[in-house]
Amino acid sequence: MDNIRHIDILVIGAGPAGSMFGYLAGKAGLNCLVADFATFPREKICGGGLTPKAWRLLDSLMPGIRYDYLPVRHMHFQLDDSPSCEFESEHEIRMTNRKDFDYALLQYYLQAGGELLKEAFLRYELQKDGRILVTMKSGLQLTCNYLIAADGSNSSVRRQMFGKVPNQMLFMEEYAPKQGPAEAFVYFSRRWVPGGFYKFSSLGHDIYGFRGPVTDREIFSQLLKEFNVPETRFMGAFISLHTVKSTVPNIILIGDAGGFANKITGEGLYDAFKTAYNAIKAITEHKPFEKTNRQIFRKMEMQEKNSHFFFGPKGYKLLDFCMRHPRFTKWIFDAKMKRETLMWKLKQRVSGN
Ligand SMILES: Cc1cc2nc3c(=O)[nH]c(=O)nc-3n(C[C@H](O)[C@H](O)[C@H](O)COP(=O)(O)OP(=O)(O)OC[C@H]3O[C@@H](n4cnc5c(N)ncnc54)[C@H](O)[C@@H]3O)c2cc1C
Repeated sequence: MDNIRHIDILVIGAGPAGSMFGYLAGKAGLNCLVADFATFPREKICGGGLTPKAWRLLDSLMPGIRYDYLPVRHMHFQLDDSPSCEFESEHEIRMTNRKDFDYALLQYYLQAGGELLKEAFLRYELQKDGRILVTMKSGLQLTCNYLIAADGSNSSVRRQMFGKVPNQMLFMEEYAPKQGPAEAFVYFSRRWVPGGFYKFSSLGHDIYGFRGPVTDREIFSQLLKEFNVPETRFMGAFISLHTVKSTVPNIILIGDAGGFANKITGEGLYDAFKTAYNAIKAITEHKPFEKTNRQIFRKMEMQEKNSHFFFGPKGYKLLDFCMRHPRFTKWIFDAKMKRETLMWKLKQRVSGN
């Protein structure tokens, strides 16, 4: 044991959750090391859309961070044969390229003095002295006081703790040359519930995606044909819709590893940043993560309930109403974004920033 390197905090995964955690840990003066098996910049299948609350949180936690994005304000929704609903949102959604975006976050962490280890996590063992012994796939061993699982929706740390996690939703995406105006388009249909087909205009290309009860290549292929999208190469990735609470106090699961993605939209970047922030709070304030992250756990429970409503018959009636009343829909959409902006400004004022 004597020749095994010891770090206070070991983070598995250098995606948005891991890089954010690593940066905040360094800023708080904590001894932290981030490990990832990938060679960066690496690909990540994702729409890369940052809603206002996500980019505002990012900009406030990593001041001065620079990343490329396409601002999108044109919203376009459709439900089967209902009239389509289109409007300009008051607040922009920033469409990023995840490969470059994640690299920018990682660089921010490294430039602040952070360290990255290129290793794949294999397993952890709890020691009698309270430390955690971590073995990497290469055989390298490390000990730490805290283990942070930021290793995404197929998290190996979570799998060791809970076994196979149910409720993984497969999303499929296809990148295609730009066509039509820059927009965020979502097409709902009673043909597949819960789910939707979408087009997000992005940097240099459009992203088409689909999520259904069973994400079926044939349905996706058919939809691409319906929308005249040339089919080249599908890519699929899971989002874990099942939020878990760690059974070990000094192992904390953040971002997709903990199942912190929106149960309706699949948006996960905001909660990757927020859970990283709450994990730092738990460590520096010596509080359980369940306490510092309480609001997010509650929000996840609510989303689970709301998703049953949203993707049920009543939800589709409401959607149909929204399609027929675009001015009302714009008002709701802007009001939600406005509320998020207000909450953010209020928090900034309270924290004195
Ligand atoms: C198709 C699709 C579209 C999406 N669109 C959006 C969107 O528009 N907006 C949005 O906000 N969210 C979106 N999401 C969700 C978003 O991608 C995730 O919520 C986000 O990536 C979570 O970040 P993370 O850091 O937790 O995990 P990840 O980004 O997955 O990072 C995990 C990191 O851990 C590393 N890793 C994994 N296993 C190991 C191991 N054993 N050892 C070492 N390293 C390991 C990986 O290499 C990776 O770098 C989408 C997801 C999908 C699948």
